[in-house]
Amino acid sequence: MGQIRLLSDILASQVAAGEVVERPASVVKELVENSIDAGAHRITVEFHQGGTRLIRVTDDGSGMDRSDAMLCLERHATSKIRQSADLMKINTLGFRGEALPSIASVSRFRLSTRQREGESGTSVEVNGGKLVDVKESGEAPGTRIEVSDLFFNVPARRKFLRGEQTEAANLLRQIEILAVAHPEIAFTCLRDGREVLRLAPTEDLAVRLRDLHGEEFLQKLVPVPPLDLEGINVYGWIARPGEGRTSRNLQMFFVNGRMIQSPILSLPLREASDGMLAKGLHPPAVLFFGMEPGAVDCNVHPAKREVRFRDPGLLRSVVLRAARAAWETASPSPSVSVENIYWKPSVLPQQREFANVEIHSSARIEETPAHPISNTLGSLAPIPRFIGALGTRYLLFEDQESLLLVEIRAARERQLYERFCACLGTGEIESQRLLIPEVLEMSPGELAWIDAHCSLLHAAGLVAEPFGANSLKVDAIPADAAHLPVSQIVSTLVDYLRESSESPSLDSAAKESLAASVSRLAAVGARLPEGAVAAHMLLEQLLACDLPYATPGGRPTMSQISPGELSRRFSA
Ligand code: ADP
Ligand code: MG
Repeated sequence: MGQIRLLSDILASQVAAGEVVERPASVVKELVENSIDAGAHRITVEFHQGGTRLIRVTDDGSGMDRSDAMLCLERHATSKIRQSADLMKINTLGFRGEALPSIASVSRFRLSTRQREGESGTSVEVNGGKLVDVKESGEAPGTRIEVSDLFFNVPARRKFLRGEQTEAANLLRQIEILAVAHPEIAFTCLRDGREVLRLAPTEDLAVRLRDLHGEEFLQKLVPVPPLDLEGINVYGWIARPGEGRTSRNLQMFFVNGRMIQSPILSLPLREASDGMLAKGLHPPAVLFFGMEPGAVDCNVHPAKREVRFRDPGLLRSVVLRAARAAWETASPSPSVSVENIYWKPSVLPQQREFANVEIHSSARIEETPAHPISNTLGSLAPIPRFIGALGTRYLLFEDQESLLLVEIRAARERQLYERFCACLGTGEIESQRLLIPEVLEMSPGELAWIDAHCSLLHAAGLVAEPFGANSLKVDAIPADAAHLPVSQIVSTLVDYLRESSESPSLDSAAKESLAASVSRLAAVGARLPEGAVAAHMLLEQLLACDLPYATPGGRPTMSQISPGELSRRFSA
């Protein structure tokens, strides 16, 4: 007898659910997208215990009649496409007709819906894919879907869920994305019964971005002038020249209203900012691309996160042009982040260059500390002679006819890293209390993450706590980063830590990545030491490190040009 059997409908839905429904955030995505497709003006998302206990999405959209309410739970039931040609001109968010049956197959599911003109509403209850109850019920016009105990019947999938705080942060991030895509829709979100988000409808994307991320964030953006290139139009907001974040969280690309992640869009943006942004930073941007539905295939990923473009090259030029058009009119951000010194050295006072020339005078070399450093630097014995500074980044030393260049930021990073590792071995990274606590506006997603990781942040020297629904009160900052604006410290640190640490616990790997994050942050804006003594001290401290030659992230701290190399360069 053959081994192949047709899967039962429930099992097939559970399999499909594996692709569409990974976690509570994906449930929210599917449900809210359905509400948007149904023409809702107001959408409320409630969730409990990171969405694992309950997700409830309520909308004031079209609603469904009784037969549709039943039918929408069948696999491949959709009102959005009818024939395969429709696949080439999709203008709704959903079209696969998979989400509801998939979700209903892995949860306790209740759908309550009523059409505006309908006499009464319908309520359908499904338990792990099995229809339990259908009844007439009195509902407000619109649709409400409750998803309880996600994955209660598929323990294998439940195991893959992260902690409640992480799931909540993902879920809030998802709402953030949908809210940015649809400023015209009012969004409310309640977490464990507490309102964490209330967004008024607006025609203006900037207002929505401000409501989510605060005025300060908006100030860092410039509008992309509307642009149309061979049938692709684009508009949105992009960071001012030189503004960058380590995470791509603040980069959102929407193609025909759908958020997608694609290197075809992110790479040219990064390329456009080449030379303006330090390596590893990405310009925040919210860009909306419009094109005829046939120019993009969104049926390549079950959760529709990826798409295929008919003409990727064209998109690349659109992104490049859009960024340049926006920046042409923009001046660098008024709140100059110290990162900027790498893209525009002229930001620093010109006198600095002259000051460095002074250090040149060999008369000061006598001040060289007497400590021989030969044993740490092997071939560089005896004491390298300080020559001077090159620009704002490098110290030059002469060492037995070779040239030694030290990059000050990398050097500082290495040195702080080893100190922080030592601190974390016994306690916390030293913090400095702020005279007046600073209150920062935050998105609910960021706040949730911070809340979940406060002990981690505490160890990093950052003492902060949520303050109302949309703000964070910062009481203390890492002492070695005190030269940076508090908002930069918080955002950078959160970005770094989000990237590097999975769990809020502090095992030794977590400590190392914590030390790496804080040192990377605190080294931003490292200044050239003034004078030969200070320069030597810096070199000496660097050489006293266990691993002096690179940052924890692998960037070199120093580079040596040997006499051989020099003479090769000057030979005929
Ligand atoms: P898809 O969105 O791909 O069509 P879904 O499984 O998400 O598939 O939804 C199935 C159908 O149920 C939709 O096509 C739509 O007709 C209906 N539906 C789902 N959610 C809502 C809602 N909130 N309001 C009105 N109709 C809805
Ligand atoms: Mg859908």
